[in-house]
Amino acid sequence: MSFSQYSRRKFLATAGASVAGSVLLKGCVGNPPSDTDSAAPTNNAAAPAVNVNPADAPEVTSIQLGFIPIVEGAPLIVAQEKGFFAKYGMTGATVAKQANWGAARDNVEIGSAGGGIDGGLWQMPMPHLISEGLITKGNRKLPMYVLAQLNTQGNGIAIANKHTGKNIGLDLTNARDYILGLKSAGTPFKAAYTFPQANQEFWIRYWFAAGGINPDTDVQLLVVPAAQTVANMQTGTMDAFSTGDPWPYRIVNDNIGFLAGLTAEMWQFHPEEYLAIRGDWVDQHPKATQAVLKAVMEAQQWCDDPANRAELATILAGREFFNLPKEVLEGPLKGVYKMGDGKPEVNNFQSGPLYWKDGRGSVSYPYKSHDLWFITESVRWGFMPESTLDNADRIINAVNREDLWKEAAQSLGVAAADIPTSTSRGVERFFDGKEFDPANPKAYLESLEIKRV
Ligand code: CA
Repeated sequence: MSFSQYSRRKFLATAGASVAGSVLLKGCVGNPPSDTDSAAPTNNAAAPAVNVNPADAPEVTSIQLGFIPIVEGAPLIVAQEKGFFAKYGMTGATVAKQANWGAARDNVEIGSAGGGIDGGLWQMPMPHLISEGLITKGNRKLPMYVLAQLNTQGNGIAIANKHTGKNIGLDLTNARDYILGLKSAGTPFKAAYTFPQANQEFWIRYWFAAGGINPDTDVQLLVVPAAQTVANMQTGTMDAFSTGDPWPYRIVNDNIGFLAGLTAEMWQFHPEEYLAIRGDWVDQHPKATQAVLKAVMEAQQWCDDPANRAELATILAGREFFNLPKEVLEGPLKGVYKMGDGKPEVNNFQSGPLYWKDGRGSVSYPYKSHDLWFITESVRWGFMPESTLDNADRIINAVNREDLWKEAAQSLGVAAADIPTSTSRGVERFFDGKEFDPANPKAYLESLEIKRV
């Protein structure tokens, strides 16, 4: 079986919910574009913006970027709302809310010319899975380019209130017998995430496994779109949920659950979600790509200024974006989390979502070593065959365009000290003491007790 067939089959086994829940624009359900080339954008040529050097004027002024209503999407929304896209000549750049990750995947397959999107916010390794044709219709390979990381942290694992007082925290050692007992009783612990084989599933799997619980055999895993999580936790459809802010916070705020832990506690300054755009769009519009990147980078800098966080909460709360009371966003954006279940409140700006810089340096720069962790973790859980590690460089180099990020950073005048000189961030350390050395991913796999590989 080929790599592609292997993962497609694996994926389909768990992807039903998100595919069924897909909502497409312009009624393109079941009618994917038959010819990629015909999907080339047809926007009018850009009129140079007053403050854009004519030599840098983008080839087009429009791009459609998708987002999911989680804090990960903040830089894209801010680039539109604070005028950064327009500042760099992308006067027609727009962000479009996606019903769920499956819908985002479907819409990028269609492209903006067909009423879909050109790119936007992605969980990892979705851009690689789309590029390799592992989650696309008919296994069509649709090359995507990862251009920037949009944020770190800002995610958590929420637990339904009926499990209070059972020692369910970041460390599950003292809750293990309770969770295994639920399986024995015929009511296995059900844990949900928003899309299979990407960030949220990896966080919850890592958390279980670190506590000696096998996520494949000791609990049940399921896919639930972020916007449906509160209802599902209230009705008892799920016991745990892994997603981006403000959803875990809202579960505590609405008193229907508590937080076992924050991803910031699992892996400080971990890779989270990314800006990725269709490769054909980038190749056809190199100057517009630079304009988009510079606008997003400037938005990331704006988002990271603590003085702007209150305004950021107001912007994100808007009806066309998250459509929530801004108070639900203000806590997480300040790094303030009510944890519940007797746990002390977290109150540390550095534990919330960060967009431009963190304690390890650049947030925005897309490290190839982080792509490798996502691929290694995919191998760990059997989502990709073990042989994938032998050609991981090929998969990563085809998608990760850190070269374009550096070009934009230099053009934007980012200080040299803030532009990484290596594509590896080096050794990563997790809350359970494990280490991932990008130079030796197999040693990391060997160090893990619970795995499929
Ligand atoms: Ca996330």
